[in-house]
Amino acid sequence: MKIGLVGGTFDPIHRGHVLLGVVARQQFDLDEIWFLPAGQPYFKEGKKVSPAQDRLAMTKRALDGLAWARVCDIELRREGRTYTCETVEELRARYPEHEFSFIFGADCLDQLDSWREPERILAGARILAAGRGSGTDYDAMERKAAALMTRFGGQIRVMPFPALDVSSTLVRERMREGLDVSDLLPEAVAAYAERQGLYREVDHSSFTAVVFDMDGTLLDTEKLFIDAWEEAEGCVTPELEEALYAIIGVTRERSEEIIYERLGADYPYEERRIAVDEVFRRTRENGALPVKAGAAEILRTLWRKGYRLALASSTERELVIPELEAAGLLPYFDAVICGGDAARGKPAPDIFLKAAEALGTAPGRCLAVEDSRNGILSAHAAGMIPLMVPDLLPPDEEIAALAADICPDLPTAQTWIALHG
Ligand code: ATP
Repeated sequence: MKIGLVGGTFDPIHRGHVLLGVVARQQFDLDEIWFLPAGQPYFKEGKKVSPAQDRLAMTKRALDGLAWARVCDIELRREGRTYTCETVEELRARYPEHEFSFIFGADCLDQLDSWREPERILAGARILAAGRGSGTDYDAMERKAAALMTRFGGQIRVMPFPALDVSSTLVRERMREGLDVSDLLPEAVAAYAERQGLYREVDHSSFTAVVFDMDGTLLDTEKLFIDAWEEAEGCVTPELEEALYAIIGVTRERSEEIIYERLGADYPYEERRIAVDEVFRRTRENGALPVKAGAAEILRTLWRKGYRLALASSTERELVIPELEAAGLLPYFDAVICGGDAARGKPAPDIFLKAAEALGTAPGRCLAVEDSRNGILSAHAAGMIPLMVPDLLPPDEEIAALAADICPDLPTAQTWIALHG
């Protein structure tokens, strides 16, 4: 098949991007157009870029119902910087039966010499360069295309294109000012961006507040919990192990439901819970519960830098406050939201939403530091920027896509915040 590739940051995808596909398909008789959201250029020309999962979700929505269009996420899957030459080569290797044309606007044609190894791009794909905006000089484009072909080889075709003065920058500016964008991008994309709180503020992906989960994130209690439970049980079955991992990060009430669902209604839940509470009580009596390495440092640094800080935990307040106090972490928090303060526990967004409300900060301006699957789901559903610091379980693909990033420990998270905050 003849495949056209439209790559972009798509922050957000707009009508110009979709039209590139429509026009290229007609003019060059292409079978399908694949849209490739760029990997995590967290900074694009010094500016921050929305999380990959949001750009991907918007791209899917923009193409919904277009039989000839597909979303291709290979650039999102690749670690580190995205280079078009690598993308083209990866596609050629994966789909040797297809013929690829890389479609882009005149601005990219102008910059092609500064891209990494353009000859590798041109060796794997023909380039179709579309005019961009009302000021397009097609003669200049032809000259540029000829010069590039002489230098790098391959085939570059200039593509007449309707003068659409739309850019993602314009969309972001208009949305930030609360102006109508219906002429610039598909309705479903605008609705998604609106719902997620993207582009609402001057710098949507920067954060002024950080919301921390407690168990497994600041305190090393998840392991203590699982060990205590397994000790009380005596014999550890795979079903029990799975059930215990499933209740990490959820409220006590929900844990009870999950345990009964998975281990049967006659499972001695109360008995086990009492035994586990007893282990926690004894550990507390012997001093504070174990604190994660770097917990005090990250909180102190963020507090000094002026970030608003909140704790959002599924655990009950009677336990959270003394535990934070004993660990010496309580004074750093402007707000502490616990299980019971919100209608629903994690993975519902309620606890994080309450935390944002208590801080007086829009959820989109809050970074949420979480260790567990349920926590990341909850933070993401609240519209926060989820940063995962996994504890017992590594993230699966779904969770990795929702997280803005994954850091192995709190000191790395601290460095990440210094870079991106
Ligand atoms: P930003 O304003 O954030 O720089 P953008 O609108 O240029 O974003 P990108 O995602 O960076 O969008 O662009 C992806 C591709 O789409 C590029 O090749 C770009 O040239 C092309 N493109 C974007 N808008 C238009 C347009 N109005 N006409 C023609 N090509 C366009």
